[in-house]
Amino acid sequence: MDQINNLVNAINNISLEDDDEGGLEIISDLQTENEQSLDGFNAKLCVVARFLSEGQVDFPAMQQTMAALWKPGRGVYIKDLEPNLFLFQFFHEVDVKRVIEGCSWSFNRRALIMRRLQEGENPRSVDLNTMDLWVQVYDLKIGFMTEKIITEVGNSIGKFVASCPSNFTGVWREYFRIRVTIDVNKPLKKRMKIKKAADDWYWISFKYENVPLFCFIYGVLGHFEKFCSRLFDTREADIVKPYGPWMRAPLKKQVKPIGEKWLRNSLVIAGRNPESHSYHGEGSSN
Ligand SMILES: [Zn+2]
Repeated sequence: MDQINNLVNAINNISLEDDDEGGLEIISDLQTENEQSLDGFNAKLCVVARFLSEGQVDFPAMQQTMAALWKPGRGVYIKDLEPNLFLFQFFHEVDVKRVIEGCSWSFNRRALIMRRLQEGENPRSVDLNTMDLWVQVYDLKIGFMTEKIITEVGNSIGKFVASCPSNFTGVWREYFRIRVTIDVNKPLKKRMKIKKAADDWYWISFKYENVPLFCFIYGVLGHFEKFCSRLFDTREADIVKPYGPWMRAPLKKQVKPIGEKWLRNSLVIAGRNPESHSYHGEGSSN
């Protein structure tokens, strides 16, 4: 980022004089003195982010942590735009993609909500109120286990993004995995009623993978119930907690099963490439 510093220094050193000779061509004009310019940034390789929880962020420590987590091959420059709004300038598409498509990132247990900056977009007005999570869908009955139905389920949790490639490869699954964009200001959905035309309603339930901390009173992301505003108007003993840790999907053990090489996960043999095994649970965001 020497380039930007040099540019800022060069402009700071300019003095305007009353002289008819020559002229001053401003190559890159800074805005007001208070508002630092974002000139020199390459919007195509920028990510804007904020942390989910309120409160001060230790900026130097955060920079170290995120850089160490991401290990961007071409480096990253991090700028604090506002107390909880950051601009991450990367220098290669590979690094941006790895971060954007990677897992849920966090610092000091505070989840990072991030968006890729679109060209011409003001980083300060990027919508940072949603995040993508992997959701496990439990208790779907036979006859409901279709791509179309789990897509609809995703769209009632939030906005369906993707279905795990291994959802329909096994003979039987305990749950289906879907990637869903959720509104971080709304309570997490814990279960949902479902039925087909003439049938009866039944419940399916959800677990969230790598979910940031959330309130067991309101189900909203970003704070523990210990810090819930509800505590200020209700006696603790009277507070109902409809949400709980059971909504967190247990962390998968990433141990490769030894027998996998010889086990078939379907009865269908034709067209199967033995090199392209997809293990149960692969495609995880983690
Ligand atoms: Zn709360």
